Amino acid sequence: DRLVSAGAEDAERAAEAALRPKRLEEFVGQRVVREQLGLVLEAAVARGRAPDHVLLSGPPGLGKTTLAMIIAAELGTTVRVTSGPAIQHAGDLAAVLSSLEEGEVLFLDEIHRIARPAEELLYVAMEDFRVDVVVGKGAGANAIGLTLPPFTVVGATTRAGLLPAPLRDRFGFTGHLEFYDDDELEQVLTRSARLLGLDLHRPAAVEIARRSRGTPRIANRLLRRVRDWAEVRGDGTLDRAAARSALEVYEVDELGLDRLDRAVLQALCVRFGGGPVGLTTLAVAVGEEPETVETVAEPFLVREGLMGRTPRGRVATTRTWQHLRMRPPENAPT
Ligand code: ATP
Repeated sequence: DRLVSAGAEDAERAAEAALRPKRLEEFVGQRVVREQLGLVLEAAVARGRAPDHVLLSGPPGLGKTTLAMIIAAELGTTVRVTSGPAIQHAGDLAAVLSSLEEGEVLFLDEIHRIARPAEELLYVAMEDFRVDVVVGKGAGANAIGLTLPPFTVVGATTRAGLLPAPLRDRFGFTGHLEFYDDDELEQVLTRSARLLGLDLHRPAAVEIARRSRGTPRIANRLLRRVRDWAEVRGDGTLDRAAARSALEVYEVDELGLDRLDRAVLQALCVRFGGGPVGLTTLAVAVGEEPETVETVAEPFLVREGLMGRTPRGRVATTRTWQHLRMRPPENAPT
């Protein structure tokens, strides 16, 4: 959503959903999570029982929602989707839980943002498949215990560290999604091009993959932007030149950094002299929420060695300065 205007978001979401792998074997990369999860699911199917609850963590766009859908498909069941921010009261969660059917998957996106009073209810539901519903008000109020059919919670979070330990402990399987390497992103792009009926030249796929910030969602978006460019400005050919021209129009640089990434690095070097600077101060300087900077921009910047995290704050590295074409100070960390 940082590559497109808000108005185009629905269309982008629809385009994204169309490209979602449906089964585990179609899911590219994440070899460890795929293998471990595959075992959990196969064992559950063989036993004819709902598997343990599954927690998926990692930066946005790496495939958490996709995996939740895949889990339901592999179990031959349906998925109910809700999210932490949508659950502000225990009653919101009780309503969802009490309508679950046997064996269903409950996908709880952004589970770290669930309201405190609902958390307690979730613990009990996950552990004992029971929910206490309060009926009536004041002195006449009554708590009625409802037994729930077995179901599986798939929780997704960009910040596993923020989950309270009792909640984390109720997940029998935790998978941490990593950024994808260029070869894997090339596979994602080749698959998407095939589904969209596009003749994507290999060098173009390589170019887009290299600039996708290790993220399939971004790879697919850039593919659509390259297609736009090729259709409007080019002759429809999806070759390397078209990819490069389109990516230039959309201000995606050689490393795949986008505007927020660059704003963060600029602020870090120019405004704060390379740091150390606290996350909140840095976020204010780029006009974003600290959580956005921390979960969206930072993981990739740190992985690329473009930002360091120290106990005193975020720091620029020699590479940061070089990337901004500025001379690093003598004492810049590498
Ligand atoms: P968020 O938490 O921001 O919603 P997410 O981690 O849930 O992100 P998804 O919505 O699952 O990410 O994935 C984004 C898009 O990337 C999907 O539309 C899907 O097409 C594609 N995608 C993700 N992972 C893979 C994969 N392993 N193989 C192929 N395509 C993938």
